[in-house]
Amino acid sequence: MGDALGSQFFVPVNYPSLKRRQLPPGPWQWTDDTEMACSVLAVLAAHGRIDQDALARSFAEHHDFDRGYGPAVNRMLRLIREGGDWRELAAALFQGQGSWGNGAAMRIAPLGAWYADDPEQATHQAEISAYTTHQHREAVAGAMGVAAAAAIAAGPGAAGPEELLDGVIALVPRSAVQAGLRRARDMLDYGDATTVAAVLGCGRRTSAHDTVPFALWAAARHLGSYEEAFWTTAQAGGDVDTTSAIAGGVVAAAERGAPPTAWLEHTEALPDWLPDGPR
Ligand SMILES: [Mg+2]
Repeated sequence: MGDALGSQFFVPVNYPSLKRRQLPPGPWQWTDDTEMACSVLAVLAAHGRIDQDALARSFAEHHDFDRGYGPAVNRMLRLIREGGDWRELAAALFQGQGSWGNGAAMRIAPLGAWYADDPEQATHQAEISAYTTHQHREAVAGAMGVAAAAAIAAGPGAAGPEELLDGVIALVPRSAVQAGLRRARDMLDYGDATTVAAVLGCGRRTSAHDTVPFALWAAARHLGSYEEAFWTTAQAGGDVDTTSAIAGGVVAAAERGAPPTAWLEHTEALPDWLPDGPR
């Protein structure tokens, strides 16, 4: 839902309704974030953990060019479909540095919910999952942070904002993402998301470190209210479908943060290849 609703606000005609918190007419079509998250979930359901080859295959098989993927991922998934080796292709991106884009983080909140009782395992499986497409340290750290946050949010007891971010910071390796998370932790008492987004970034450069700290700041501030988390995230602008997918995924991992039923009804149904289970 986060990316489906968030992507509605890439259309300038919808900016005034964003300001007034008016929902655009449905159906809100989900994008690459949800499509890839469904592969993560399908692999967990089939293997009980992240199997990298199965995950890369699922990403490639279910890749729909019209769902808003970045150009590098579009090309890579096509090459994997044609028989290419994801290990070589992912490692070769960006002159051999690997991608530091936010794509490994945008798809991973459901994995955190899957490991609701075990944030360490969530972080570990998120790390493994990231390498199939994003091999730069920052992209991997970003995915680890989002999975940790969702696992903590979904876990027993209602974590508070400080507890959530402290738990995430402890599980994420030293990186620009972690530095950003420390700043996010310092800014939890700020009420103005625009100021916080100006400091932390909100995905305008589509890097993990420019995306994850702000999205987790918004989630931490609004645990227990999917609506508040969404509007706060979206109104900051930037890579809105990605920041909303992350913040929404983390908040919704806890039962108290479930999205409103009316919003669910506006959201396109999940793909039919997703294994049976709660939708
Ligand atoms: Mg997207």
